[in-house]
Amino acid sequence: MPKRRRAALGMPKPKKNVRKESESRADSSEFEYGIPTKRDYQRMHPYSSFAVKDDDDEAHFFRVGNNALIVPEGCNPEDRLELHKHWVGKILEIRARDKDPSEVWVRVQWYWAASQISSKLKGKLPLGRMELLHSKSEDFVHSTCFQGLADVVSFDEDSVTQQYIDGETFYWRFEYDPAKERISPKTKLKASCLCKLPYNPDDDDIMHFCISCQKSYHESCLDKHGSIENESRNSDDLPRDIRFERILGVRYPKQLTSFSESDYSSLPQDLLRLARSPIVRGGPEHGVAGNVFPIVQARIYIHDALLEHKPIPDNWKDEVSANLSVVQAWIAEDNDYLCPNCHEVI
Ligand SMILES: [Zn+2]
Ligand SMILES: [Zn+2]
Repeated sequence: MPKRRRAALGMPKPKKNVRKESESRADSSEFEYGIPTKRDYQRMHPYSSFAVKDDDDEAHFFRVGNNALIVPEGCNPEDRLELHKHWVGKILEIRARDKDPSEVWVRVQWYWAASQISSKLKGKLPLGRMELLHSKSEDFVHSTCFQGLADVVSFDEDSVTQQYIDGETFYWRFEYDPAKERISPKTKLKASCLCKLPYNPDDDDIMHFCISCQKSYHESCLDKHGSIENESRNSDDLPRDIRFERILGVRYPKQLTSFSESDYSSLPQDLLRLARSPIVRGGPEHGVAGNVFPIVQARIYIHDALLEHKPIPDNWKDEVSANLSVVQAWIAEDNDYLCPNCHEVI
């Protein structure tokens, strides 16, 4: 989890710190030699890391490849900012003019926040509070603008291996081209839900994910559409929880073998409960990425134990990246929904 840090003292502080496309550009006269040109930059001495000291004189290190929190244009490095209000960039290169520690310039590849994108696109997409847009745009940023490290992960709505994303982690699912004012990929701009509205990670209307169809549906749309189980719809007469347990997506076809109670008795009950839960995302409890990864992993463990007699690893909770309290919270309440496409439990 990134901590907010104050920028270095003892190095010249810029009044406005960086330039960024489509924003007003910083006056290069604020720095002794100005913001470097590409040619200047290539002449500077390269480094693999730099340090910025905070008010307590503690050094914070930044390395090539790190994602970093950067003071936004117009903000003072000493202001306390909420995490999501920082600019975020990936450190591509670190160079210093004349090996001078007060002249460290960092080549940064930007992630764009929803608030920074072209006004033409604003409001067209439901972008989350911690959501960023990956881009190829770059700038040179002075070292004093760096506040701390940022956790940034990619979020693939269709993936069954998507890891849980906590509220302090930035995530991105779209690319943004600021020059062409374009967001891609276009195929992901529409949701697979009946309403065709994209997933809003900050919305309370949670989505159920059918891993067989790789489609997501809002609970409210499933309610409206009447995609709710009743007795006449349960054609194979298996209990709902067992049907959940057996859905492993295209990689693992459904096994129709029956197991007795004794086959299950030696399995961890928390793992079984997880395997028998719906796959959901969104809302305050389930988080941006939801429970897809732990649930699919739990189903694979159960599948391997019952069909291939593989032992469940003792550290299965670590493998599904969860501690017990988190696992319990992820076990979602089952509201008897069915996939409108394949009519399986979701
Ligand atoms: Zn919908
Ligand atoms: Zn389906």
